[in-house]
Amino acid sequence: MKDIKEYSVNEKPQWCPGCGNFGLLTAVKSAFAELDLEPHNTVVVSGIGCGSKIPHYLRTYGYEGIHGRIIPLAEGIKIGNPSLTVVGIGGDGDGLSEGGNHFLHGGRKNTDITYIVQDNQIYGLTTGQASPTTHLGMKTKTTPNGVFIPPVKPIPTALISGATFVASAFAGDINHLKEVIKRAIQHRGFSFIDVYQPCVSWNKINTYMWWKERVYKLDKSLSFEEALKKAMEPYLTNWEKVPIGVFYESNERKPLNEIINYGNELLTNIEEDLREFE
Ligand code: SF4
Repeated sequence: MKDIKEYSVNEKPQWCPGCGNFGLLTAVKSAFAELDLEPHNTVVVSGIGCGSKIPHYLRTYGYEGIHGRIIPLAEGIKIGNPSLTVVGIGGDGDGLSEGGNHFLHGGRKNTDITYIVQDNQIYGLTTGQASPTTHLGMKTKTTPNGVFIPPVKPIPTALISGATFVASAFAGDINHLKEVIKRAIQHRGFSFIDVYQPCVSWNKINTYMWWKERVYKLDKSLSFEEALKKAMEPYLTNWEKVPIGVFYESNERKPLNEIINYGNELLTNIEEDLREFE
């Protein structure tokens, strides 16, 4: 186990005081430390948004990509060098709107990466427009009469698209969040975590207290069908009950990076055979 300071930099985060990103940053560093990850073998990939500044605040390799492209960047890094631990971190707008297409394909490709969505139900960096996960009825700069389109459902979508590890957590419970992140990194395949976290400046509804009154922890492993049913609970109860924890984990499918590298080995063998034949 390493000291959490091994992942710290001198630069101070430029986030509003109280932002949920602080809890996530602490949980990520603690998970890295407890998993004994070497900073030089760890890559954090982000997109565009307040939370996507996170690679600047971690002493690991980092890549801040363009909007919505966290997953393909992380997949490419992992396939190029499978010995690296690759973690993608970005907001709900970045990942589920601009990056929605990649989110669908991330699950079915099952590359061995961890993808964390900082889900604060708003576009924070651009000062408060409705995001794909903004709850029905919420008034924002772009929805002055309230959101009337149902939100994207990240956890059910991840399950249906084939993600082999699907979880949620709350940035106000750092210890639990850290444990979920550790399990996600240890999972061999595409791991998805939807992190509920307050944007204290632009989302005055989904506050720390609001989440605390609603979240409860899953305490047993679930089948795929049970996981899907649980994942729908917030939508079916109008957010009265919000389960957090690991919904589903399966090791049945081989990660894409292992299949591709096996394919490369085959090609190398074929090329060697051909050379012998010549
Ligand atoms: Fe965090 Fe919201 Fe401030 Fe962005 S605007 S730093 S998400 S509190």
